[in-house]
Amino acid sequence: MNGQTRPAEPAGAILITGAGRGIGAATALAVARAGHDVIVNYARDAAAAATVADQVRALGRRAFAIRADVARPDEIRRLFQEAESEAGRIAGLVNNAGVTGPIGPFDRTPDEVIEQVFDVNVLGAMRCAREALARFRRHGLAGVIVNVSSVAARTGSPGEYVHYAASKAALDAFTLGLAREVAAEGIRVCGLAPGSTLTGIHAAAGEPDRPARVAPRIPLGRLAQPDEIAAAIAWLLSPAASYITGTTVACAGGL
Ligand code: NAP
Repeated sequence: MNGQTRPAEPAGAILITGAGRGIGAATALAVARAGHDVIVNYARDAAAAATVADQVRALGRRAFAIRADVARPDEIRRLFQEAESEAGRIAGLVNNAGVTGPIGPFDRTPDEVIEQVFDVNVLGAMRCAREALARFRRHGLAGVIVNVSSVAARTGSPGEYVHYAASKAALDAFTLGLAREVAAEGIRVCGLAPGSTLTGIHAAAGEPDRPARVAPRIPLGRLAQPDEIAAAIAWLLSPAASYITGTTVACAGGL
């Protein structure tokens, strides 16, 4: 592309993995408000994903809820095929689906948990990025990928989920390298690292009261609401962030 050309925002849908709940659900609404159709991927909770899809439609955009486990390569391929045949062009991907496994020290974390966390958080995100890139290129789109990381990549999460922190650090390296590899095509790859956010992820990790325990160590003194994280993701996807690529932005209340 011409070195001085700023790409227009590509028309097309945004595919968000793990969009049935939490940050992904809030992001679906934020990108719908910004004028995009949305593919609401989920793993198990079809009712939650259907509710998010209805909320997107109420904002005047099209929405398609598609079940696929991003830990499974065959399901990722099907997800993108179905997404494209339902929604048409895909202009953006948010690699949001993420799991921690149970809270606890590293030496009590079984291999199966570590493997599942890397399968979802790292390999799933990489495979989704590959599918999205192939489609951006086929349509000549200056698409955008946002990888949802975590401040854990910087803190290491000792005593909680070191393996999860390591998976997010791997994701950050992937963001940097892939962004530099595809930048000449006008495609951007960004990361967004939330701090602790009020979603079901803490209960799923086995500590529903974790928000109250960690709030005092956050400079802003409270956890994020999912819509505060979603606003930052939607901004990275938008032309307002046209000169940002290859970096992971923290949205973490000062951490
Ligand atoms: P959440 O409330 O637990 O929701 C997770 C979502 O991911 C659900 O919609 C779930 O689908 C989906 N999901 C889980 N495994 C999946 C798989 N194998 N394939 C497809 N979808 C899958 O999580 P969240 O707190 O919103 O977290 C979203 C992202 O932000 C994650 O990457 C997480 O690591 C990151 N993050 C969160 C926090 C925080 O404090 N909440 C902080 C930093 C970073 P179902 O509903 O169908 O099960």
